[in-house]
Amino acid sequence: MTRSTILVRVAVFAPLAGEFDYLLETEASRLPRPGQRVRVPFGRSSRIAVITALPKSTPMERKQLKPVEALLDEIPLFPSSSLELLRWVSHYYHYPYGESLAMALPVNLRKGKPWLEPGPVAVALTPLGEAQDGKALSRAPRQRRMLEYLKEQGGVVGIERLREHFSPAGATLKALLAKGLIETLDALPAAEPEGRRTVPSLNQEQAEAVEAIVEGLGDYTVCLLDGVTGSGKTEVYLRAIEQVLARDQRVMVLVPEIGLTPQLVERFERRFGACLALSHSGLSHGERQRAWQQAASGRARILIGTRSAVFTPLPALGLIVVDEEHDASYKQQEGCRYSARDIAILRARRERCPVVLGSATPSFESLRNALEGRYRHLVLNHRAGNARPPRIRLLDARGLKADEPFGREFLDAIQNCLARDEQVMLFVNRRGYAPVWMCYDCNWVAECRRCDARMTVHRHERLLWCHHCGFRQALPTSCPECGGTNLNPLGQGTQRIERRLAECLPEHPILRIDRDSMSARGKLEKSLSEIKEGKYSLLVGTQLLSKGHHFPNVTLVAIPDIDSGLFGIDFRATERLAQLIVQVAGRAGRADKRGEVLIQTRYPEHPLLQLLLAQGYRAFARVAMRERREAGFPPYTYQALLRASSPKQPLPMAFLDEATGLLAGLSEARAVSHWGPVPPPMARRAGRYRAQLLLQADDRASLQALLRVWLPAVGKLPSARRVRWAVDVDPIDLY
Ligand code: ADP
Ligand code: ZN
Ligand code: ZN
Repeated sequence: MTRSTILVRVAVFAPLAGEFDYLLETEASRLPRPGQRVRVPFGRSSRIAVITALPKSTPMERKQLKPVEALLDEIPLFPSSSLELLRWVSHYYHYPYGESLAMALPVNLRKGKPWLEPGPVAVALTPLGEAQDGKALSRAPRQRRMLEYLKEQGGVVGIERLREHFSPAGATLKALLAKGLIETLDALPAAEPEGRRTVPSLNQEQAEAVEAIVEGLGDYTVCLLDGVTGSGKTEVYLRAIEQVLARDQRVMVLVPEIGLTPQLVERFERRFGACLALSHSGLSHGERQRAWQQAASGRARILIGTRSAVFTPLPALGLIVVDEEHDASYKQQEGCRYSARDIAILRARRERCPVVLGSATPSFESLRNALEGRYRHLVLNHRAGNARPPRIRLLDARGLKADEPFGREFLDAIQNCLARDEQVMLFVNRRGYAPVWMCYDCNWVAECRRCDARMTVHRHERLLWCHHCGFRQALPTSCPECGGTNLNPLGQGTQRIERRLAECLPEHPILRIDRDSMSARGKLEKSLSEIKEGKYSLLVGTQLLSKGHHFPNVTLVAIPDIDSGLFGIDFRATERLAQLIVQVAGRAGRADKRGEVLIQTRYPEHPLLQLLLAQGYRAFARVAMRERREAGFPPYTYQALLRASSPKQPLPMAFLDEATGLLAGLSEARAVSHWGPVPPPMARRAGRYRAQLLLQADDRASLQALLRVWLPAVGKLPSARRVRWAVDVDPIDLY
């Protein structure tokens, strides 16, 4: 066996630009390949890195080169297509390549853990398990529940769904296996996708949409599936996916943070059998690694996941679906601030497959592309089946007594709905009891010690809680300013609305759904099925309640207050409010019962609101987009935001002033305008002072050209080392 020493170029998992060369001693017959991980000496310690090339020569001095400590993979983790995609990501978002590669891996692989042996794909009851009656397992409730679940589901369940349902499932699975009550299956069970009987036949609009998508298979196209809520978009995805699977290709389905519901997974599994891999932030590190490997190795045929799943390698990718493409959770807000929707589009182009962007309320970015002919615009105007669109009513809140959340008409509508034995859903955009805790004697207001923000009152927990930095303190009972005890909550949060409803309608059971009440694992899922069973007639919740859930008996949706969204400081505020109203309204009356939506506002004459209600989202968007164009805002211009922060007040502004000064010397800066630097409205957050500089250009290329030359110079400023700073390309939150 001949051993030789070769050069490998690697991207190190460290916040440094550039790649580095190392030496690797290897057998000539077992040359490493790009995409494999190595451990390399780095500074005084060692780091994980990914081989990006096997260069013939090196710009470094040969005797400075250090040897690789270990080759960690037998086969590449990243195919060349992924290496290229992430190189682009690194380039576009101005984030180090090594860190971009690290971000694309599940945590375990990022930390250097080995590739796991592939596990089983499904779990089945053994005859012994089928015969088992629950009592024998009365001392092992989790085992009993898992066994019952398997029985309910027909005896075979995909491993991903089982893990989803019982997370963490490992110990329970092991115990049942040891008792011989279940067995694992290594191959896909001969899936019995649901019979044609239960699959609805498509309406005309759906059929045309499916046809348009399928027509594009095998090549790059972008389709904007612009369909009102309940118009059967998911059914369109399912039909298109069927065609892709028939060609033996793989599918990626991206969903928003809270869109990956058990109902959705069940719907996919019923249709396609146990060939799914699921990836989302609720999984343990091990589960995530397993899902990633299932997808990357090609064992899974459909990957359903949130934002970060967009980076998962999938051999023979045939279609990407981005559901609720307007959702803000597709944008990563720290580290590499990428947009998973945008990367999905880029990936589809590179891998030559169609991408479908679905939404009832498309982002203005996507609408612009559709209107200008770059995307195919597929429109579903009608609700599927027999469901009719909800009726929307605005109620004037100006006559309400201070701090009274609802008027007579509002309560009457709720009561009428309850009297018909139907369910009511209330949306409140704030969790907690009230956004303000105030002294009525001296007007003192509780503020966070670490942020320029008010503390939210949490009555159940008897706390003041800062929703920006997480700081908490006991609810004070006397005023720290004047010593008085006349302290009161002001404004409405979910807890306070829940309480007021309980006072007004004492005989009706209420369920509150927000991050506080649903923090326990599995609680949300359990609550959702209890809602379906009719255990609660009144539901009060935040956005957690707004997406993807289908409650046939909810016929009234009510929003007690939308006014903060009408006059938000961000230019996207009205777009977001319109999306919220339409999405929330979409929860009303989806089956045979007609839905109604009530909205309380102090500005019932607001023109955009009027337009939205009278003519719908598309008409609203047309006008709002014209305003954007006239004001020179995205989607008609392109932005980047340079943010800086420090515990010392003057440093961020000083740094950004110097960064702004550098612009003067750059010819690339001529096509780019800048605003600031300025402190954002919340100038201090979690003890750090903040400032920002906004850049804007008429096209991406000019903006990128400037960032390419400017950011390296910015990084070399001495003041850059005294602050924390980051660039956000295509920011969606300007503050
Ligand atoms: P969306 O994703 O647009 O909100 P879904 O695909 O979830 O809509 O469809 C809403 C409901 O209508 C679901 O219960 C679905 O099974 C049903 N549905 C979809 N397409 C049809 C159809 N062509 N005929 C009857 N019912 C349908
Ligand atoms: Zn006071
Ligand atoms: Zn705070």
